[in-house]
Amino acid sequence: MRRSAYFLPTLKENPSEAQIVSHRLMLRAGMIRQSSAGIYSWLPMGFRVLKKIEQIVREEQNRAGAQELLMPTIQPAELWKESGRYEDYGKEMLRIVDRHDRGMLYGPTNEEQITAIFRECVKSYRELPQILYHIQWKFRDEVRPRFGVMRGREFLMKDAYSFDLDAAGARRSYQRMFVSYMRTFARMGLKAIPMRADTGPIGGDLSHEFQILAETGESAVFIDRALLATDWAGREVDYSSDLSPLVDELTGHYAATDEKHDPAMEKTLGDRLLSARGIEVGHIFYFGTKYSKPMNAAVPGPDGTPVLVEMGSYGIGVSRLVGAIIEASHDDAGIIWPEPVAPFRVGLINLKPGDAKCDEACATLYRALADDVLYDDRDERAGVKFAEMDLIGLPWQVVVGPKGIAGGTVELKRRGAAGGREEMTLDAALAKLASTRPGRS
Ligand code: ATP
Ligand code: MG
Repeated sequence: MRRSAYFLPTLKENPSEAQIVSHRLMLRAGMIRQSSAGIYSWLPMGFRVLKKIEQIVREEQNRAGAQELLMPTIQPAELWKESGRYEDYGKEMLRIVDRHDRGMLYGPTNEEQITAIFRECVKSYRELPQILYHIQWKFRDEVRPRFGVMRGREFLMKDAYSFDLDAAGARRSYQRMFVSYMRTFARMGLKAIPMRADTGPIGGDLSHEFQILAETGESAVFIDRALLATDWAGREVDYSSDLSPLVDELTGHYAATDEKHDPAMEKTLGDRLLSARGIEVGHIFYFGTKYSKPMNAAVPGPDGTPVLVEMGSYGIGVSRLVGAIIEASHDDAGIIWPEPVAPFRVGLINLKPGDAKCDEACATLYRALADDVLYDDRDERAGVKFAEMDLIGLPWQVVVGPKGIAGGTVELKRRGAAGGREEMTLDAALAKLASTRPGRS
């Protein structure tokens, strides 16, 4: 993409409404525009990141054996009356009346709807287990929408639902999702820590929130520092094996959100206890027959008697992740995208558009890098171009200037703390970019 043609309305000044760095940077980098409180339009640059995150989530759900479908955003009120949540959900639910006076609502989540699909379609225990998911917009009329896309009213969520014949099966489905969440967040360059979370009346140990540590996080969290040293990235998983040992290993260190934390246990940790703030990027939950019972989602079991299905639900905040990744990865100059979610992998800066040699070198690079490159071909001061490239945070920058090109070289820069810049030939730069390209894990 040529910068001169790209729809990228960046801002020079810090927007005063933004209280945290990710919100500030998303507005400044031309990723989003607010429509009304907690409701945003995604501009091309932001939309590319959102789609990349969504795709990683999708690939890891599929790998774990979940199947994608798509349910509507608008749901009938009757379904929620069946489960009893129509009254319980309160003011967070946006209720709508259609022209026939039928009660509708904009879905804040989809347990009822998926349970209705399940009970209409599944006729035998032989069709179990199933894990179904969709990636769809949700609406929750949050009391205090804030921090940009981190606590929006309209937001994109991946929500999966598991159906099993018994509690042991439900535990296996839960473990699949648990492990797929570890892979999903690691692929985005995030260290997400699974923490014991409230299970409500169900009890047991099958509820975890996945939290990213960040000062601006809304949750208080308590963890064993040993967790910071563990490295999950790149681990292979065989989903057909028993996942219990792996889940036990991943939950072996103390980590709890404030509803679940245990001061007595924390005392024994001494200096190893870290009390910090976290951003919740995912939540997985086993809830047994909470919905199947009132909604009568049962299948005939092996001996013909109906069995209520055991269910769980598994959410990931896809749009919240865009902000969370920026909270975890930025510096004073701007965003530092982890490669797998970067809107473009490379920013190409032509320091002297109109100079035949610079233009030619840039044209070669632009062709070779194809869809991965944002090419700043504008007739702007170098300082302006550098500042903008740093702000939008593409992982690599290639700078082409008349002095270098006269000697046959360009400059290759790595954005971020690992940093580094090198003068090299154009071919060497392309070779290096090709060899460092992250494999599709
Ligand atoms: P929170 O405690 O942050 O309100 P929640 O417990 O209501 O979250 P879930 O119902 O478990 O959230 O939804 C699954 C995921 O959706 C959350 O882990 C979070 O990442 C994301 N999410 C929830 N509410 C919002 C929101 N208002 N804006 C953006 N993302 C959200
Ligand atoms: Mg909430």
